[in-house]
Amino acid sequence: RAKGRAGAAYIFFDSAMNGATRTRLEIEQALGRAIAAREFLLEYQPKFAAGSRKLVGFEALVRWERPGLGRVPPVDFIPAAERTGQIKALGELILELAARQLRGWLQRFGRLLPVAVNVSPLQFEDAGFSARLLAGLQAQGLPHEAMEIEITETAAIGHLGRVLPQLAHLKSAGVHCALDDFGTGQSSLTMLRQLPIATVKLDRSMIDPLPEAQAAAVVSATCALGRSLGLQIVAEGVETETQARAAEALGCTQLQGYLLGRPLSAEAAGELLAGALSAV
Ligand code: C2E
Ligand code: MG
Ligand code: MG
Ligand code: MG
Repeated sequence: RAKGRAGAAYIFFDSAMNGATRTRLEIEQALGRAIAAREFLLEYQPKFAAGSRKLVGFEALVRWERPGLGRVPPVDFIPAAERTGQIKALGELILELAARQLRGWLQRFGRLLPVAVNVSPLQFEDAGFSARLLAGLQAQGLPHEAMEIEITETAAIGHLGRVLPQLAHLKSAGVHCALDDFGTGQSSLTMLRQLPIATVKLDRSMIDPLPEAQAAAVVSATCALGRSLGLQIVAEGVETETQARAAEALGCTQLQGYLLGRPLSAEAAGELLAGALSAV
């Protein structure tokens, strides 16, 4: 890369840059290439009804299949994609991958259970986001109800001006929204009433200590309000039967976590879906 005269300039520039900037450039270039090459895939973690433990849907979780480096988890590249703005292109790709998978399942089974896609608040900066999401579903011949979105609580609060009208648009079109990681940010029960959401997902950090009394009190209060607002309440990160029973007893309506199902390949998720749809 750096040769001749340009080399001198490069060296000067390089030594003037701090390590963080260099890393950022590297990530930006690697991510840009990866998005263009579509090196991403989705895994699908099942969600179950509390009580009956029947499959009610999936959450799509992105992974970067990096040639020679293996499967990179989202914590290692989503924050970088958000810093560089590349989350918009990546988010579009993720929505497309989910819609294609849904179409495949619909063609195979004739019916579907919803798949929830995690959406970054930055994707809402584009005022056309919700319209494009709906157009993407229509392009695949999917009912709007086939896809749901998840947005974190902190993200929703921090970008209310952009997020709110688009959530309202999606809701009126039949795309449900879940408030993710509830209980980690500046949680306010008022938010549950103000946001056009269908579901609240209680963060793993609130489920993990169950049945400890203080966590139980918070989960119980959230469930009581959520129920009165007609919301689904998902217990996230359920790892033990003790936690599952406590979450059910406290009023959670759905369970998700390693106890009941890890994130699955599309193929394994399809098998689970086949079983659930034929069991009816
Ligand atoms: P999240 O949306 O809250 O997803 C739940 C995370 O917890 C997932 O990690 C999941 O694999 C993990 N998990 C599920 N059950 C359990 C459990 O019982 N125990 C434990 N210890 N962990 C459990 P993952 O896949 O690494 O995703 C991490 C975060 O990355 C997600 O948190 C979400 O915020 C973000 N993310 C994932 N996929 C996407 C995406 O497509 N777009 C965007 N913007 N963000 C994504
Ligand atoms: Mg989520
Ligand atoms: Mg979550
Ligand atoms: Mg999370």
